[in-house]
Order: sequence, then structure tokens, then C-alpha cells
Amino acid sequence: MASAPTQTLAARFPMLPFAPEADRFLTAVPRMKLLEQLRARHVGAVECIPKWFPAGLSIMDDGRFLLSFNDVNTPEQDAESLGHELGHTFHYDLSARPPRPLLPPPEEISDELFDLVEQFCDAFSEAWLARVDKELIMKAAENQREGILRRSYILEEE
Ligand SMILES: [Zn+2]
Repeated sequence: MASAPTQTLAARFPMLPFAPEADRFLTAVPRMKLLEQLRARHVGAVECIPKWFPAGLSIMDDGRFLLSFNDVNTPEQDAESLGHELGHTFHYDLSARPPRPLLPPPEEISDELFDLVEQFCDAFSEAWLARVDKELIMKAAENQREGILRRSYILEEE
């Protein structure tokens, strides 16, 4: 298994002002349960639906994120997609509800910035999976899939 780069995301993506916040989160990850991590990033629900892409992030009426997974994903794709989509939560200001985007709207974003953000989310996912138990995440995804297939699953409020 390849080890994750030891460089921080802030060092690898100095042009993305939200990278340090992602590094801080990654530092805390080993002490947090998965559900705590999802809550900390304001993920309120997950769903498995037919999609063109492995996963996507949207904002629900209550201002929390909805994570959507493709219903044909393998558990490994789910785990990697979960990390990638968690990465996308960092370009929002979570102190606002609904979360305030820290990037221009997709139609105004340059191709270069779009690609950079996708690279950031992949790098976040890699760093995240190096700090969590990937097998456990895959097992959780498989278990959840049985229960949530084709309907959304609202995570409990604390
Ligand atoms: Zn993405």
C-alpha cells in the first residue's frame, strides 16, 4: 500500500485559502468516529441513487449537506468518494447556514481552478483514507447501502 504524502494540503495547494482548515480536520480525524466526522462537516444525510458520477454533494433545505452515492459503486469507490466529497465541504464556510461558498459559482469558475479543486479533493481523500480505517469505511458503506438503497438516510441530530 502506498503511503500518503506527508506534505500538508496547505503546502501542496497554497493557492486554495481553505486548505489549512482541511489540514486541521485531518489532524483530528484519528480521534473521531465516522459519524462525528460527517456531523463536523455538516453532512446531514446520505443517499444511494442512480447517477452519472460516483458521488456528489448538494445542500438540503435545512442547510446541511446531502451526500449522494451512485448505486453501482463498489465499497472501495464509496470510501474514496466519501473522502473526495468531504474534501468539497472545505470550500464552504460552515459557520453560515446554508453554508456559504468560498469559491465562485461553477459557471464562473475557470477550468484551471475547477481542476485544482478536484485535485485538492482527491488529495484530501487520499490523506483522509490514510488516517481512517479504510476497511471499516468500506464495510460501513456496504452495510449502509443495504439499508439506504434508493432512499436518503437522515443522520440523527445530536
Ligand atoms: Zn469533485
